[in-house]
Amino acid sequence: MGNITLLKKQILETSIYSYNQGLFAGTSGNLSAYDGESNLVVITPTSIRYDEMTLEDIVVIDLEGNIVEGKHKPSSEWQMHCEIYKVKDNVYSVVHTHSPYATAFAVNRKSIPLILIEMIPFLGGEVPVAEIALPGTKELGLNALKVLDDKNACLLSNHGVLAIGETVDQAHIRAEYVEDSAKIYHYALNAGEIHLIPKDIENKMRNNK
Ligand SMILES: [Zn+2]
Repeated sequence: MGNITLLKKQILETSIYSYNQGLFAGTSGNLSAYDGESNLVVITPTSIRYDEMTLEDIVVIDLEGNIVEGKHKPSSEWQMHCEIYKVKDNVYSVVHTHSPYATAFAVNRKSIPLILIEMIPFLGGEVPVAEIALPGTKELGLNALKVLDDKNACLLSNHGVLAIGETVDQAHIRAEYVEDSAKIYHYALNAGEIHLIPKDIENKMRNNK
C-alpha cells in the first residue's frame, strides 16, 4: 500500500492548495488518483471542508465505489472519476473544480477556443463542453469522455471543470490552465475582437512536442 499512502498525501496537499487558490469553494470540487497496481482510487471525501481536511479524511475505493479504507463516504462524484479511469489509459488523476471563470463558460455552454499558446501543451487545444448530466451519476463521466478525445480537460455544462493527467500534479496544473484560459478569454471578449491561434502555428507547436 506504499503507493496509496503517497497518493493520499498528494491528494490532500493538492486539495488544500487548490482550495487556497480559489479553484474550489466550500466543499465543492473533488480530486482523485488511481493506482494502476492495486486498481484502487484515492479520492477526497464528501462534505468535508478543505481547510479542515486531514490525511485520515481521504478515502480509498475500488472502481465500483466500495470503500477499502477511510471513515467517510467518497466524493459524491466518485462515479465520474471511476468511469474515466475505466476508459482512459494513462490517466491516473482526475481533478474536478468549480473554478469561477471556467464555470461561467460552462453555464454559457461555450467552449474556450484556442486563444493561448499554453493551451496546446497543457490542455491539448480548445476546452470543449460536455453535455449536461445529473451530478453524482455515471453519465457525468461518460458525457465528459465523449468530448475529451485527445484533450486533457473539458467543461461540464452548468457545473464545472474536469481535468485529467498522468499524475496529480499534471491534472491539477491543467485545471489551473483551464481557469486561466477562461479568465483571459472573458477579458478578451469584453475588450473586443478575438483572434485565435492560426492553424499553421498550432500545427508547428504540436509537431515540436
Ligand atoms: Zn462538481
